[in-house]
Amino acid sequence: MRVLITGAAGFLGSHLSDRLLAEGHEVIGMDNFITGNPQNLAHLAGNPKFSFIRHDVSNYIFVPGRIDAVMHFASPASPNKDSPRGYVNLPIQTMKAGALGTHNTLGVARAHNARYLLASTSEIYGDPLEHPQTESYWGHVNPIGERSVYDEAKRFAEALTMAYHRFHGLNTAIVRIFNTYGPRMHIDDGRVVPNFLKQALQREPLTVYGDGSQTRSFCYVSDLVDGIYRLLMSGEHDPVNIGNPVETSILEFAEAINKLTANPAGLEYRTLSRTEGDPQRRRPDNTRARTVLDWEPKVQLDEGLRRTLPYFRQQLGLE
Ligand code: NAD
Ligand code: UDP
Repeated sequence: MRVLITGAAGFLGSHLSDRLLAEGHEVIGMDNFITGNPQNLAHLAGNPKFSFIRHDVSNYIFVPGRIDAVMHFASPASPNKDSPRGYVNLPIQTMKAGALGTHNTLGVARAHNARYLLASTSEIYGDPLEHPQTESYWGHVNPIGERSVYDEAKRFAEALTMAYHRFHGLNTAIVRIFNTYGPRMHIDDGRVVPNFLKQALQREPLTVYGDGSQTRSFCYVSDLVDGIYRLLMSGEHDPVNIGNPVETSILEFAEAINKLTANPAGLEYRTLSRTEGDPQRRRPDNTRARTVLDWEPKVQLDEGLRRTLPYFRQQLGLE
């Protein structure tokens, strides 16, 4: 297949590009580097099956030649208001990537009669009142809250994707991605894994937002990419959660990272850094992914963190 991947210079887009190339496909990466990093694609320079277009997906997209699949991953993704990469600090760009970017990429897929895969998110469930979250849950989102620029853009993106499927018969798929981590997350991205690993390696206290009782379920990137690849190759149209179901509180997570890295600096509680509407609990129900895609995560948290640490050491110039 010849596949267009938007957000290719980002964390997930670059790993997806690698996986598709490894499967023998051709990849056209597209990115405007607003939160991504050209270094994430540096190893693909000279690969005859990879090409790159620097472009903002909010503007009309033209790609020469045939396209068999479009994967729309371009969007700021970090909720951290202390980071310049956080979507709270890129509110209009985030809504444009989710709304106009989704419209433009759907248009490309329609013009080429291509398979379309939308990167959606567990954030469409908001601060969920149902736990764990199944795909049939409609969510609990404040439409004008701090996080709404991301949540509502993704909810709109899902609705538009389903409209193209129902109205135009486009072959669409929607993946609802739960917290994923691994090498190539930007060191200043602001999400909890890069923040904690950077702080731990620099022997600083880990910044726990709120009281740390909020939970997340962390999926290692190779597991996520495998689920997404299976979804791409399937004929599935309804949304599928992909995430690791092992739930941990942020406090337990911080303590585990300090132990793993032998960081003596402890914790620092930062209530004001917490975004409004920070979900209190989050865990995917993976029943659909298991039954429809025969997918299950394989990499446990301690193993995934061990695989991630060398990247952050290298980014910090520690090796
Ligand atoms: P990332 O910030 O590393 O990657 C996003 C990429 O999109 C960046 O390279 C950025 O420059 C690019 N981009 C943003 N707006 C653009 C635009 N208008 N035009 C072109 N490129 C643009 O984040 P990520 O974690 O790799 O996230 C990728 C996708 O997956 C996003 O759509 C995000 O919402 C979704 N997602 C990620 C997670 C996760 O845990 N990593 C969870 C849920 C959903
Ligand atoms: N968090 C934290 N310290 C940090 C960064 C994040 O305690 O330095 C918390 C944040 O408040 C949230 C959780 O970690 O409850 C996960 O945050 P992240 O930014 O990774 O993404 P989210 O899951 O909220 O989209």
